[in-house]
Amino acid sequence: MNRFAKPLLASAALCAATLLPARAEIDVARLKAAIEASVESDYPKLDALYKDIHAHPEIAFQEEKTAARLAAEMRALGFEVTEHVGNTGLVAIYKNGDGPTIMVRTELDALPMEEKTGLAYASHDKTVWQGRETFVAHSCGHDIHMASWVGTARTLVGLKDQWHGTLMFIAQPAEEVGAGAMAMLREGLFTRFPKPNFGFALHANGAFAYGTVLYTVGAGSSNSDSLYIKFRGRGGHGAAPQATIDSVMMAARFVVDVQSVISREKDPTEFGVVSIGAIHGGTAENIIPDEVVLAGTIRSFKPEVRAKMLAGIERTAKAVAAMSNAPEPLVTITEGTKAVINDPGVVATAEKVLKAAFGDKLRPIPPVTPSEDYSEFINAGVPSMFFRIGVYEPERVAAAREGEGPQLPGNHSPLFAPVPKPTIETGVEAMTLAVLSTFDQHARGK
Ligand SMILES: [Zn+2]
Ligand SMILES: [Zn+2]
Repeated sequence: MNRFAKPLLASAALCAATLLPARAEIDVARLKAAIEASVESDYPKLDALYKDIHAHPEIAFQEEKTAARLAAEMRALGFEVTEHVGNTGLVAIYKNGDGPTIMVRTELDALPMEEKTGLAYASHDKTVWQGRETFVAHSCGHDIHMASWVGTARTLVGLKDQWHGTLMFIAQPAEEVGAGAMAMLREGLFTRFPKPNFGFALHANGAFAYGTVLYTVGAGSSNSDSLYIKFRGRGGHGAAPQATIDSVMMAARFVVDVQSVISREKDPTEFGVVSIGAIHGGTAENIIPDEVVLAGTIRSFKPEVRAKMLAGIERTAKAVAAMSNAPEPLVTITEGTKAVINDPGVVATAEKVLKAAFGDKLRPIPPVTPSEDYSEFINAGVPSMFFRIGVYEPERVAAAREGEGPQLPGNHSPLFAPVPKPTIETGVEAMTLAVLSTFDQHARGK
């Protein structure tokens, strides 16, 4: 008798047949039906959890209540939970025999903004952040991720006769400020706990219909770096420029010339952007200021493109100063979040099963340009798949795309309002199948 011949399982909704045969492909249709039935019966609890978290969001590194709420859910499922890993982060481990360790990550944090959806469960909460009072809202969908994360844990525990290994469910603080993943790693995420063999994360996306699952092979989000430049000239009278070194002129020249790094030096088929978002200098119309400060953002997907852009930006700044016979400018480039690069092997394994389950509702998409600190876990050596799920009614998404209906509010909009049930259900199904596909692949010795 092989280990899969034992009858299933804890959840009443799951049928008592063998769903994952040891040496054949997964019977995805039956497995999906079993997961759907399980999620359907579980949904009222997930709905209550989602709406409670949505109504009471907490901002980066303040996620005490949110984390405690998730810790209680995971303990009730039999996970061993450690809180306060990386400030407010938590780690939940479930051991189920020999096999790989698979990590599933959710974020905990909300955004410093006012929700304007008018939903019954909308947030009206405020907090103090960076010394100022602000509204708080889950306008990026991290509450969808948390409900999907708990739902996935519950479904996988219900299916525990179908897989062997260790689940490592982590809830990460402060994704929006790009600091939470690093905080968890610094506090021993992969040394105090088993280092996962594989990892998964999902993100709700306002551009797509619920029921759809979107993914990229390779880079899925951008490298993000911050740029600060101080041009140092010599101040003086606006009517006597010959006695000055004009720092406003340098700033203006730089803003224009730096775009030639993008258009002339970088391979035009590769993504790369530099945008100057702030220029500060001067006080009055007849005074040439002695310095001007610029701030901008640099985005790229590939490390080699990033390196080329950084070098070109610095060279342009220095050249602009040299043209004016000014001292060298101060150029500071602060390394930000790295691109999320999906592992081709993990994607290939999950893709096959997700394709069978979701058909043409599973789609590859080009990388998106916002950044995401899940990349820290990948760069720490966890081959992963990061995918996206849609959130709105398919008809409304289609109408918006064809220009026949209003544009739908995207992530970070005060009106962002995913349709909870189909969105969370898709999140649970896709994540459960992705994790099971990886356990199964390992069990079959591939
Ligand atoms: Zn966000
Ligand atoms: Zn987000």
